[in-house]
Amino acid sequence: HIDWCPGCGDFGTTNALQQALRKLNLAPHEVALFSGIGCSGKFPHYFAVYGYHTLHGRVLPYAIGCKLANPNLTVLAIGGDGDGLGIGACHFVNSGRKNVDITYILQNNGVYGLTKGQASPTLGLDMRTRHLAKPNPHQAMNPILLALTSGYTFIARTYSYRVRHMVDIFVQAIQHRGFAFVEVLQGCPTYNDLWTPEFYMGKDRIDPETGKPRPRIYDLQDEGYDPVFSRSRMSPEETAERMGLLYRKAVEFEDRIAIGVFYIDNETTTYGDRIARSIPNYYECPPALRRIADDQGRSSADIRAMLQDLRVT
Ligand code: SF4
Repeated sequence: HIDWCPGCGDFGTTNALQQALRKLNLAPHEVALFSGIGCSGKFPHYFAVYGYHTLHGRVLPYAIGCKLANPNLTVLAIGGDGDGLGIGACHFVNSGRKNVDITYILQNNGVYGLTKGQASPTLGLDMRTRHLAKPNPHQAMNPILLALTSGYTFIARTYSYRVRHMVDIFVQAIQHRGFAFVEVLQGCPTYNDLWTPEFYMGKDRIDPETGKPRPRIYDLQDEGYDPVFSRSRMSPEETAERMGLLYRKAVEFEDRIAIGVFYIDNETTTYGDRIARSIPNYYECPPALRRIADDQGRSSADIRAMLQDLRVT
């Protein structure tokens, strides 16, 4: 039994993530899935992997802690736009700069669905969805641009009614070595009557020549957009030019909406590699697999040297 409203974008995202894990041949014991609070908090309930339904806005610290304790696991974090960019915004920003090797999927439907449709941080200024008494008085945050400035090293967007596209993006994100961020444009048919499949697929604007809808959604990679940025190979001029293009693609919304991979940085070191410099045998014997007590239950941590340092003479 799945507790989402009929037509909710969560169904497509669940389906795509399950397919992606199967494509990558990941066994259940090799994956840990963390969720925040919101309708999407249910995700770990529907996957036969290690799962943890965490606290509001706190999904990233949990997921990061898990990955650092056991880098052998494939770690996924998932949550809504209200969870990740409202109460969780500080974690969103500060997690990016760590470049931990995990994947964060942010389901963006513009509303707080679980608490009856309040405007979330991604709903645009003056938009008025079905359950708002007045138009939204706030400007929207842009998840792609915030991820870029926060230091995420793989940044993509996909759309929850295009399952094949989602599968492809999730596979790339999980395979990326570093912090991957994926924004999923999702429908919330119960509370957001503006961002509907008809809106995304342009069914409100029929092309007079063909008699067919003109979809707003289009794939960046179909237009030859190259997402790989290299600090070591690109000149400042080329970087500025391509960053300008990325910005323009990230903010489009009314007429065209880009999905696909916006940004890949394969050069920044991961947080795991950074701490491996100071923790002997970090990858060979990670903290989660180390013995913490002997057969009698006595701690095997030897803190005598540390206590010696603290001695007041
Ligand atoms: Fe999905 Fe919206 Fe229903 Fe939540 S309220 S389950 S996001 S349709």
